Amino acid sequence: MANRQLPLLPVDQPSGCPPVILDERLRGTRFVSLTPNRVLNSPKSTGMDYWSLNPYVGCEFGCSYCYARYTHRYVVERAHDAGKLTDAEFADYRGAHGWEAFEKRIFVKEHVVGALEADLKRVPLGQCIVIGTATDPYQPAERRFRITRAVLQRLTRCEGLSFGIITKSPLIARDCDLLVRLQERNEVQIHISLITHDAKLARKLEARSPVPAARLRALRKLVDGGVNAGLIVAPVLPGITDDVAHLDALFAAARDAGARFVHAGALRLYAAVRDRFLPVLGEHFPDLVPRYQRAYARQAGAPQEYARALSRRVEKLRRKYGFKNHPGMIDRYRPAKMPVQGELELRGSLP
Ligand code: SF4
Repeated sequence: MANRQLPLLPVDQPSGCPPVILDERLRGTRFVSLTPNRVLNSPKSTGMDYWSLNPYVGCEFGCSYCYARYTHRYVVERAHDAGKLTDAEFADYRGAHGWEAFEKRIFVKEHVVGALEADLKRVPLGQCIVIGTATDPYQPAERRFRITRAVLQRLTRCEGLSFGIITKSPLIARDCDLLVRLQERNEVQIHISLITHDAKLARKLEARSPVPAARLRALRKLVDGGVNAGLIVAPVLPGITDDVAHLDALFAAARDAGARFVHAGALRLYAAVRDRFLPVLGEHFPDLVPRYQRAYARQAGAPQEYARALSRRVEKLRRKYGFKNHPGMIDRYRPAKMPVQGELELRGSLP
């Protein structure tokens, strides 16, 4: 099962009801109702060190390097196995290669608050819940369905927990009021996700994500509103966004936007990511394809020497821009088995 291949990712439960189409866009995207039995994925079920919650399955932003595509395939395959999808529906909800539907058939977890109410009883005090580990909780669907906002409204009644949100969308600034309330009795870390300040490069790699400037403006709004927010630079793409100039520009932008922290991590090339990412890499950076294929031939994680060199580079930039190196959510991933060969050299000279 895909879950065994990707133990870092959450598992969502399909509903007891057949899917209902809630809306459809001109370009063909459909929004489908999903009523999950539970919404909080435990650390044990995902292999992550925290609980996770994803208000949607699938993501219209369609980043080529996205590791979450398998979660969509898993929901569709389970629904088909349970007889809730005909073969024709299965073909449509899965897509020709198993990755396209993640961007065009978005499952909306309606009535999420009832399941959340029961799930919260399982979370011990002091533990961390991260929203948006396998979808963007503020993707375009959220503007209409407001599932993430409903979740936050319920969570503001919690006390003594730690919450993280990961998003590329400026729509998160809409919920600044709730985040401030959430922070009154809990620890909160908002991660605005940005891999490059270069809008043209972002568009090559992320089909429909908000432009970098809009994300940085949202970061500024959150920080000005008193929310503990920073930047997450993940994945850093070897040979594309890992040079000193590129990372330095991101750190400078983070500082200018008032970020409280910056975290960064190298690409993990899971099996489910390769089919989507390598053709995009071949289209825009053909010279890099053989290097990626060699470096990630036997494992999903970046080569150990590369990861260490990147950490040193990031740490030097943290010091330069006055950010503290406190552990963030990205650092709480359980370490993947990494190879020792150094197939991917960092661009530019090492710090
Ligand atoms: S925004 Fe996040 S969840 Fe959505 S496609 Fe991009 S990486 Fe995946």
